[in-house]
Amino acid sequence: MNIQMTANAAGFKPFWADTAPEGTLHPPLIERVESDVTIIGAGFTGLRAALFLAEAGTRVTVLDAGDVAYGASGRSGGQVNPMLPFNTPSNLQKMLGTTYFERLTEASLNSADEVFELIKTYQIDCQARQNGWLRVLHNARARRQAEEGVAAWNAHGAGMEVIGQEEVTRLSGSQVYSAGVVTPRGGAVQPLSLSLGLAQAAKQRGVVIHGGSAVTALDRQEGKWIAKTALGQVRSDWVIVATNGYTDRLIPKLDKSVLPVHPVQMVTQPLPDDLINEILPEGHTISDSRRVIMYARREPGNRLVYGGHGKELADGQIGGFKWLKQDAERVFPQLKGVTWTHRWGGRIAITEDHLPHLHEPQKGLLVGLGYNGRGVAMSHVMGRVMAERVLGKAADALAFPTSAIRDMPFQTVQRMGLGTVVRFMKFLDYLETRVGR
Ligand SMILES: Cc1cc2nc3c(=O)[nH]c(=O)nc-3n(C[C@H](O)[C@H](O)[C@H](O)COP(=O)(O)OP(=O)(O)OC[C@H]3O[C@@H](n4cnc5c(N)ncnc54)[C@H](O)[C@@H]3O)c2cc1C
Repeated sequence: MNIQMTANAAGFKPFWADTAPEGTLHPPLIERVESDVTIIGAGFTGLRAALFLAEAGTRVTVLDAGDVAYGASGRSGGQVNPMLPFNTPSNLQKMLGTTYFERLTEASLNSADEVFELIKTYQIDCQARQNGWLRVLHNARARRQAEEGVAAWNAHGAGMEVIGQEEVTRLSGSQVYSAGVVTPRGGAVQPLSLSLGLAQAAKQRGVVIHGGSAVTALDRQEGKWIAKTALGQVRSDWVIVATNGYTDRLIPKLDKSVLPVHPVQMVTQPLPDDLINEILPEGHTISDSRRVIMYARREPGNRLVYGGHGKELADGQIGGFKWLKQDAERVFPQLKGVTWTHRWGGRIAITEDHLPHLHEPQKGLLVGLGYNGRGVAMSHVMGRVMAERVLGKAADALAFPTSAIRDMPFQTVQRMGLGTVVRFMKFLDYLETRVGR
């Protein structure tokens, strides 16, 4: 059933739907029910929160407009990368102050281990592998920045290593990089299988999940929240909003607090051993240091998944694959002429400060979103943290600071349009990859 659920309106179906176990189509909510907690969104954030709460004996109802994993979680690259993007420790410390800097650093550096531990605890069959993450550096400046960043993060226990040309060529299978950074705690999962496994574990512990149940209104009545869908409603003490890149206008201003962008991916046909064995021979996941990044991973069955930035077109189609194919052939010329069998994409949420945001706009209402493309690990942390809050942890004792919902002042993007900005960034990346390696 997951195959229908994970195709978008234009029929773009993730490759993951071919290799995940059969999922269950969850029925829409058609009555008025009582719960302790209502969770809106059945991706990693919502499911992790649901499972944590169920373990503590809390009654949980999960509502999703599509179904389990319909959003980014079932479509993602499945790279479990234990780092916050774009930040150095000193920047982060300035932004957050010492207490939250220390908490968030610990949470993010441990985030990949946390996901792999969770998978082990619940015995979720999702091709989990912790073979390390290789970040390849596209020019000399990126290398200088990486060397400084690695030294600074290692002082906090990141355990990263800068590698030179020979090693990066060997570990990537690409000739176009002269350096890289290895983060041994990174890895990969089959993201749809992980989502379905989390949902299964949650249901076995009493969580009720409804698909086809977009929440259209949230009202506060007599100290309780009422989450309304087209055909039913849930009355509960707490509501957790876990809608990330699919955020609509349910919570005032929330959709304006993030920028939705559209990563896309494609996968090769099964490749001959001699071709695929050159690429990522030790099973690392890979991404690069450009503004408009690429990311890739090798699959059981001799396939390679390659991803980058794309776009959702007005007619529901997904664009950006022409550039993606050219880029894949630039990085791995071995792939020229291979057939790409599946293409798909989804939505993620970017925040202005590139940090995940936790909001508590009203009593009993929590919102966690904005993973900036690094959500596979951090969404699990956010789900757990929101569950801890529901279970009584003080707001100022959490790993994330609680902030007000604010409009995102991405004025350049608004003025020029996201497409123009991305084209400009690609142009800068192109220049930088041609000079200064
Ligand atoms: C193509 C792609 C590749 C990616 N690759 C990686 C990667 O390799 N590594 C990494 O770390 N991150 C990656 N990401 C990002 C990562 O997938 C996300 O950050 C993460 O899955 C977010 O999880 P979530 O549960 O918060 O949101 P989602 O999984 O997006 O779930 C949100 C859910 O909310 C539901 N919803 C929205 N509004 C309502 C409503 N009103 N009522 C009911 N339901 C509603 C939607 O239907 C959806 O199912 C990728 C994302 C994409 C799209």
